[in-house]
Amino acid sequence: MLISVDEVKEAGLLLEYEEPLTAFPVLVEIAESGSCQFVGPVTVQIKVFLVHDMVEVEGQATARATFTCSRCLKEFELSVSSDFALTYCRELPQIEVDDHEEGAELSAEDMGLILFDGQEIDLSEGIQEQLVMALPRRPVCDEKCKGLCPQCGVDLNVASCDCCPQDVNLKMAALKDFKVKKT
Ligand SMILES: [Zn+2]
Ligand SMILES: [Zn+2]
Repeated sequence: MLISVDEVKEAGLLLEYEEPLTAFPVLVEIAESGSCQFVGPVTVQIKVFLVHDMVEVEGQATARATFTCSRCLKEFELSVSSDFALTYCRELPQIEVDDHEEGAELSAEDMGLILFDGQEIDLSEGIQEQLVMALPRRPVCDEKCKGLCPQCGVDLNVASCDCCPQDVNLKMAALKDFKVKKT
């Protein structure tokens, strides 16, 4: 996903990409770790425009993936979307010279800027980071998912059981005692 800076005009440039997962090594790693499985390509829609010497990239990246529900262990598919605005610049603005209040040691990251060289900007890394942040940490198939019964393991979304949830802690405690006595 390269943007040629020469082609970016102040009026802006609308671009659409469909990128294979292999363009995003961190996403490949996440898939290999088993957290989720991506389905199809990553789609990216962006508007690129110049603001002074900076290249502003605004848009949305979407990846479809299957996750395992952290409550009921069911597999489900989800579109993970990230709306982002990334600002690329060749060098950091020199704000520390006459403005001490802004902080003298700000890095590009602190300022929300991404540095680039030359005539092309590779968007893959910036967009990858946005998608990684958009992935659910504890995926749930539905906010209302009731999960599995911690005692008998029945899927409480489709069945009910006679276990009494209040008993869980007591039974766990009893089990622990039992193990301790046994040894
Ligand atoms: Zn669930
Ligand atoms: Zn149960």
